[in-house]
Amino acid sequence: MDSPLAHRPKGRDPRGGDGSSPSLEAGLYVVATPIGNLRDITLRALDVLAGAHLVLAEDTRVTGKLLAAYSLTPSVLSYHEYNAEAVRPQIMEALAAGKAVALVSDAGTPLISDPGFKLVRAAAAAGHRVIPIPGASAALAGLVVAGLPTDRFLFAGFAPVKPGARAAFFAGLAEAEATLVFYETGPRLKASLSAMAEAFGDREAAIGRELTKMFEEVRRGPLSALAAAIEAPPKGEIVVLVAPPPKHQLAPGADVIDAALRIHLAAHSVKEAAALVAEELSIPRRDAYARALLLRDEAP
Ligand code: SAM
Repeated sequence: MDSPLAHRPKGRDPRGGDGSSPSLEAGLYVVATPIGNLRDITLRALDVLAGAHLVLAEDTRVTGKLLAAYSLTPSVLSYHEYNAEAVRPQIMEALAAGKAVALVSDAGTPLISDPGFKLVRAAAAAGHRVIPIPGASAALAGLVVAGLPTDRFLFAGFAPVKPGARAAFFAGLAEAEATLVFYETGPRLKASLSAMAEAFGDREAAIGRELTKMFEEVRRGPLSALAAAIEAPPKGEIVVLVAPPPKHQLAPGADVIDAALRIHLAAHSVKEAAALVAEELSIPRRDAYARALLLRDEAP
């Protein structure tokens, strides 16, 4: 590995002689770490990891490698799904004592399909500062290279493993007018893409694999083609992105059509109002006209 330390800020070590942090305010720091390439850490994240009284790590061995790469030696406490309830009181005590506590996960941004939500909630409820130290996240890294709309996206995390629950999960997302972002594993990818094609129709999609790493790969295409191209389960870490539904696929509800017609009928003839609503909501003009006639006749 090349030396990621080249950009380490010069000047005093943010840790005091006793390992305390004269330069870090008290609070819970939610610190993003790289999703692969170790150089994707921010200077601010390094300052916080160097200066925190305590670093909470999902897997202390994984975080230990990151800390070692940057020659950082903070106190590290394990904080993961299975011990969170047990260690949270200890963390709350440290915060109450005015300590700077940093939360990291194995990779990327904590709380994004990773532990930390309950800790952040508890820290905020107790009146402590919660400070974001933003950085890498596979969801955003995938989104920005997918070539799919980014104006609205919905992060859906991992789909359930069992086929029935997975199909229901996808069905619940089918009408969301947003690019959908999923985390997935190699062994489940093919079946998952096929189930998505069933639930969403054959939409455009992208697979981001091993992003920021040596074997980074992005594949783009319709869901069925992406599924068909998988011969053996791909290795590595995967994010899947699916285009929003085509506009015409989403029929507006009767209440939406009526509301739009009422607005236009106040200022236009039936024919004009129907034409305007048909255009705005992408519905057949004759349907809008028939409904507009009824609404006009209903009017007091
Ligand atoms: N908190 C992390 C984040 O902000 O991205 C995600 C943690 S989640 C437990 C791990 C999942 O994220 C992996 O199973 C994979 O789906 C996705 N992921 C993580 N690193 C990735 C990478 N380098 N390329 C593609 N997907 C990745």
